[in-house]
Formats: sequence, structure tokens, C-alpha cells
Amino acid sequence: MARIEVISGPMFSGKTTELVRRLERYSLANKKVVYFKPPLDLRTEGKVMIASVRQTFGIEVLTLYQPVGIDADVVAIDEAQFFPDWIIDYCQSLRDQGKIVIVCGLDMDARRLPFGSLGNLMAIADSVSKLTAVCACGQDAVFTWLKDGLPQQEGNLILLGSQEKYEPCCGECYNRKMAGGI
Ligand SMILES: [Zn+2]
Repeated sequence: MARIEVISGPMFSGKTTELVRRLERYSLANKKVVYFKPPLDLRTEGKVMIASVRQTFGIEVLTLYQPVGIDADVVAIDEAQFFPDWIIDYCQSLRDQGKIVIVCGLDMDARRLPFGSLGNLMAIADSVSKLTAVCACGQDAVFTWLKDGLPQQEGNLILLGSQEKYEPCCGECYNRKMAGGI
């Protein structure tokens, strides 16, 4: 059944694990799956997960530079926050063609700003799963904190590079850190 599913949340919330879980189910159901990533260097964890997707399901991992025609039942799009606006119309058209589209990505950057097209993708989706990570204080974490503090630059922060730079953060701890507390 054609639909768009979004899996979102902060870093360390298990988004890619959830994506892989769903792909495994579709793979067992003999659906043809294609997995896309943006043309960016992905984090180490992402690379490991992609290797797992490739190995476990024999799914081809492709880099998506522009909208393309796809011969598949299920289209997985990872790190969707890094795609330009065309990703929204593209997902709509894939659904119109009867496909299942699973979109995975960060909903907010380290400034807590909506990240790229993720918000709009959530708006057009049939279902949205917002996952949470675990804050160091033990509460559910919906934010991603940049350990070195936030730079002055405008616009979205691109969360790439070492995972040690980031940690999941609840609202209370985020506000305390912003105020200069530990
Ligand atoms: Zn906390």
C-alpha cells in the first residue's frame, strides 16, 4: 500500500536501527527495496549501518543527486535532512506511483531549528515516528547538543563528523547548558 513513513528524532535515537528493522520486514515480504543516501560523507555509524543494509538484505546503496525513476516497491531515503526541497515532491511522486517511501532523518539541528526538508516531509507523511534518545540525566532526549557549544553562524548546523562531538539532550539540560551551566 502506497505511503510515506517518516522516522525522525535526535542523534543516538536509533533511527537507522528502526529503518533497518522495517527494511528487514519488507525484505522478508519479498518487496524490492532501494536505499538512497545524500551525496555527503556520512558519519561512521551511518557507514556501518549502510554496510549492514547492503550485506543483510543485498540492497543496493545509491547516492541520490536528483529525482530519478525507480523500479522498486520500497524506497528508503536516509539522512533526508540533507536533501534540497525537491525531495518533498519526489517522495509525493513515488507514493503516487504506488510505492512505500521510508524517510529517515534528523528533525532538528543542534540549535533546535527544523532541519532541512524534514518538517515538510513529516507534514506530507502518512505516518511519523519521532524517536527519543536518552539524556545523561536519564530523561528522554529530543534534542542534540553540540558539546563544544554553538557557533555563531547562521542557518542549519550540519551535524557531520565525529559522534563524540554530540550528545542527546532533554529540554531541561539543554536550557541549563545554554545558560552556561554544566
Ligand atoms: Zn537531561
